[in-house]
Amino acid sequence: MIHTNKHFYIIRIVTLSIFYIATLTNGMASGDDNGLSAITISSVESKHGFQVIVKGQGYPIKTSYGVIQATESSHSDVNLYSETLGELLLYPRKVVDLCNIKTVSLCNNLSVNGQLRSAVPDFEHCTLHLDIAQNDSEADYPAHVLHHELFHFIDLKDDGKLYTDDRWAAINPAGFRYKGGGARVRWQSRTLKPTPGFVSFYAMASVEEDKAETFAYMMVQYKRTILRSNEDPVLKKKIIAIEELLKQFCPELNASFWQTVSDFRRRRRR
Ligand SMILES: [Zn+2]
Repeated sequence: MIHTNKHFYIIRIVTLSIFYIATLTNGMASGDDNGLSAITISSVESKHGFQVIVKGQGYPIKTSYGVIQATESSHSDVNLYSETLGELLLYPRKVVDLCNIKTVSLCNNLSVNGQLRSAVPDFEHCTLHLDIAQNDSEADYPAHVLHHELFHFIDLKDDGKLYTDDRWAAINPAGFRYKGGGARVRWQSRTLKPTPGFVSFYAMASVEEDKAETFAYMMVQYKRTILRSNEDPVLKKKIIAIEELLKQFCPELNASFWQTVSDFRRRRRR
């Protein structure tokens, strides 16, 4: 626990120290005026062995489930997003290897078949596409999206299944039925409140979104989510199921990992 935590903070301290004395450009990730984004991106790339691309992604990209379209990001958007990308330093390298993520694409105006998305896990091209121009009143939202999407990779790679999980579905209250997929509830999900047993309204969309949402809430609001689960036995079972799934997927995602997540302090962005 302490080792991982220390390691993470050492990287952050090094990143901040270099901030004033160096301007780096790295691979396809272009540098910016102050070098912060390039250095943070470089830390994440070297820890996890994937490439962060901010230009020349070759959109539109065809996949079997639709066409991914996006535009290039501005330097200022990349710079603003770099701290969020640094959240990936919380994970052991092995997680990214098991997920087989080779590329992280930072872009704007991201869509699949014309429908705007905050992020797209493109399993076929081993790429995580992130729309980094998502301005939101909730400061933790970009981090939430990042962890949510990473979980979709974990969820697929752990047993080859994304859209079904009988064990998970059995935890739900008797008679509950998911609302038919993320696309159906996307625009209501920010305003409507979830029923007990679900971390968000969006979690009520489908089994895969429920799991990804539960995980993202644990990553971004760990203590609050655990506290909430003390009053919500269905949610408690889901948290235990996520912990078990992760530990099975990668043994390093154990109690020490969750302690590090719980102790992690984010700088308030606004
Ligand atoms: Zn999702």
